[in-house]
Amino acid sequence: MMNPEEYYNKIFDLLRRHHNWFRNCIPLIASENVMSPAAKEALVSDFGHRYAEGWPGERVYAGCTYIDQVEETAIELAKKLFKADFADVRPISGVVANLVVYTAFTKPGDKMFALAITKGGHISMGPLYSTTGSFIGGTAGAVRGLNVKYFAFNEKEMNIDVDKSIDLIKQEKPRLIMFGGSVFLFPHPVKEFVDVANEVDARIAYDAAHVAGLIAGGCFQDPLREGAEAVSMSTHKTLPGPQHGMVVAKAEHSEEIKKASFPGLLSNHHLHCVAALAVTLAEHLKFGEEYSKQIIRNAKKLGEALYERGFKVVAAEKGFTESHTILVDISEYGDGATIEKELEKANIILNRNLLPWDIRLGRHYTAPGGIRLGTSEVTRLGMKEPEMESVADYIRKVVIDKRKPEEVAKEVEEFREGYQKIHYCFETAREAYEYLHLR
Ligand SMILES: *Cc1c(COP(=O)(O)O)cnc(C)c1O
Repeated sequence: MMNPEEYYNKIFDLLRRHHNWFRNCIPLIASENVMSPAAKEALVSDFGHRYAEGWPGERVYAGCTYIDQVEETAIELAKKLFKADFADVRPISGVVANLVVYTAFTKPGDKMFALAITKGGHISMGPLYSTTGSFIGGTAGAVRGLNVKYFAFNEKEMNIDVDKSIDLIKQEKPRLIMFGGSVFLFPHPVKEFVDVANEVDARIAYDAAHVAGLIAGGCFQDPLREGAEAVSMSTHKTLPGPQHGMVVAKAEHSEEIKKASFPGLLSNHHLHCVAALAVTLAEHLKFGEEYSKQIIRNAKKLGEALYERGFKVVAAEKGFTESHTILVDISEYGDGATIEKELEKANIILNRNLLPWDIRLGRHYTAPGGIRLGTSEVTRLGMKEPEMESVADYIRKVVIDKRKPEEVAKEVEEFREGYQKIHYCFETAREAYEYLHLR
């Protein structure tokens, strides 16, 4: 049995070890990023102890004088970055932001179109079934009670099949057509669906959880201009902010979205995250375009470098990617789960991923045929195209050359020594994974 001091010390010991590990790793998880030290400062502010239910200026709590002004600043910055009439910065995560959109635009029982999880969709867009057909969950289906139908998918193009999906939408007549996903190599065909959406009286929304930073940086696609009525997102993937969510939309949806957030899905809305988000958005306004461009250049380069070393990188004939993500068919070397673990021992952090054809080949999500890599975090550490060659070399050493991962870890550690600062943010003396003491 541990005494209280032992528990207390154990927690700090684990946190320190985690920080030390990450300062020596190559972080390639496509859904992760690291905040600027300035955003971290906002995150530990007193805002994290407060409540501010409602909208700035119309709160049902006292003590919100400065909180309101920070939230209004976040809203103003979000509107600027996404060229939106309206922004709600309160949803506390990407899943909650999606629920806000589902709540504003649908009723339980309505049909919604989205990307299947096996094709790159997210659990928040699913009903999710196991390989044996039993129901596991999925926010749209299990929580909002939507009847989820899937886009037809073109595996060669690694994108939604427009013609087939339009036919399906004409038959099914959904209320909501939801674009976006978690494996997102190329922009989705949004404008191609505007006519059919009008015809069946469906609304178009877009889940930008992964690509929000690229969109705000002007480097991907522009869903609000292409026909989306609302864009939901996480604020911590390509947008390098706190773990939080946000919805931007056309002006005519502002009331229904506000109501869905509060008094719908939120009571407190993590005000420290709103403050850190505001800082992140200000930094993105200044550095976001340059940062996004380099993320995409790095992803293309990493795809090419892995391909040249013999890896089966998905969509090679299409230039690998137009986003921060690449997908590799790893099945000739083992399953995605085993390879993920081997690479982790070598201090290379990425995750296993289903390939669109995995289910057909009898594979499933616990041991899929692919791995997914993202370049948002390594780019933030100042890595550029030459470093992507080195990253590909370390991956090759583990996966193809079958070198001992522990040996490769030492090389990775040495390589990482030169990349300890966060780039694309205002001047700071702090390191990216520096452990900040308050005790
Ligand atoms: C990550 C992700 C989400 C969920 O985001 P959280 O912030 O983790 O709740 C929603 N949609 C998509 C497509 C995602 O990739």
